[in-house]
Amino acid sequence: KKYGKPEPTIFSKIIDKTIPADIIYEDDKCLAFRDVNPQAPVHFLVIPRIPISRISEAHDDDAQLLGHLLIVAKNVAKKERLDEGYRVVINDGKNGAQSVYHLHIHVLGGRQMKWPPG
Ligand code: 5GP
Repeated sequence: KKYGKPEPTIFSKIIDKTIPADIIYEDDKCLAFRDVNPQAPVHFLVIPRIPISRISEAHDDDAQLLGHLLIVAKNVAKKERLDEGYRVVINDGKNGAQSVYHLHIHVLGGRQMKWPPG
């Protein structure tokens, strides 16, 4: 398989529904669920069902899937009424402060964000 044998993460269990999560959207390619440790009044994650470990490991031919994740992120943001804007973040690796090695897009909103993020 393209991504080899997946290293299971906590997100694999959310996909399998062997551990609970507050899932707010799902389709055949991805899931969106609320972050268990929210950093903003609204904080959810969008993840692909296939176990891409991190954005730097994505393949060129995943462009359509990666685009889909962003479209889902903005559709769920709209559903969450983040009409005053929001932050979209992907952490990659050690310097990016990634902690779960299953690709995920953070969407944070409901408060004023700062830039640079630090
Ligand atoms: P990272 O630092 O890898 O970009 O972000 C991982 C995120 O996943 C963190 O914000 C963390 O709170 C969240 N997270 C970790 N474990 C779980 C879990 O079991 N359930 C949910 N809903 N979120 C989780």
